[in-house]
Amino acid sequence: MAGRGPRIPGCEVRMLLFLQPDSTEQTCEALLSALRDVGLDGQTVAEQPRRVIRLRGIPRSVEWLQGLPGVLHVVPAERPFHLSLKDTPTQKTTIRVTDHTIGGPEPTIIAGPCAVEDTDELATLALSLKRSGAHLLRGGVYKARSSPYDFQGLGRNGLEILAAAGRAAGLPVVTEAIDERSLDEVEEFAQVVQVGARNMQNYALLKRVGASRLPVFLKRGFTATLEEFLLAAEYVLEQGNPNVILCERGVRTFSDHSRFTLDLSIVPRLQELSHLPVFVDPSHASGRRRSVAALAKAAIAAGADGVMVEVHPHPDDAMCDGRQSLEPAAFELLANQIRLLAAVRDGQGETVP
Ligand code: PEP
Ligand code: MN
Repeated sequence: MAGRGPRIPGCEVRMLLFLQPDSTEQTCEALLSALRDVGLDGQTVAEQPRRVIRLRGIPRSVEWLQGLPGVLHVVPAERPFHLSLKDTPTQKTTIRVTDHTIGGPEPTIIAGPCAVEDTDELATLALSLKRSGAHLLRGGVYKARSSPYDFQGLGRNGLEILAAAGRAAGLPVVTEAIDERSLDEVEEFAQVVQVGARNMQNYALLKRVGASRLPVFLKRGFTATLEEFLLAAEYVLEQGNPNVILCERGVRTFSDHSRFTLDLSIVPRLQELSHLPVFVDPSHASGRRRSVAALAKAAIAAGADGVMVEVHPHPDDAMCDGRQSLEPAAFELLANQIRLLAAVRDGQGETVP
């Protein structure tokens, strides 16, 4: 295969060369040969949708590399997330989902049950969530459960129920795809596809959602570092899908008073580094209904672009995650508080240097 030459022993990968989108096999070969002429080893590491060459050896200068025919960008290999990072401090990706903008000034509220269960109940809940100020309806139909004996979701039938409830309430829907086959179905019915925490490093799935027309709601794996999280987003972006939403949903720690530990400190860090919208899911992070509102408000105060909250009409009977689901009345109160909090946050601006 083009450019997969012998490695220079002991020589580190120094740079990634991103080639122009229209570059051909010939451009790539000419470039690899120009690199070889000066003792550098280039390897083609990606060809679709854009070519990327990994460079070993010490180049004359970055400017020299940048000037070679066909080269679009040169990125030091130790900062491999190239597409998810900001080029300028104010760069921000906004994502239009029907008539709502994610990543804009208004915080986005995604709400709904952990899993789609019943047609009439979901239709009634969706109307109430819309009235309370939710912007998107969530509901799992393909569930990546830790135990094979737990409810796995209603599958295609659930997608039909979810889509109908969303349509009737005027809410776009977000639901999880757990593999390539379920993604085909999700694409038929949903406006946003979720990649769950357990699949954050399922690279085949990330590549497939990267080729989807749907925005991707990407949850942080519960042992993933910030770098691994951004690299997962990079898989999607690199395939040509620019619409990725990052969601912190709690990580594993020694702390055992809550289901996971909400790592709120990642919110300002991601906002500083990446142009992608940043969300927080306080439901899965805490696993406790009584903690959800406090953590959701803390997330907005910390600069999140939105929250995803589980809501169920009678949580104690829920098939899944009832203990962390709010009742509709509690959700209405929270949605009001989020709006007030966002007004204070954005109205006063950054006062601390
Ligand atoms: C969910 O959103 O219902 C879910 C399973 O989330 P996570 O992947 O964050 O556990
Ligand atoms: Mn859940």
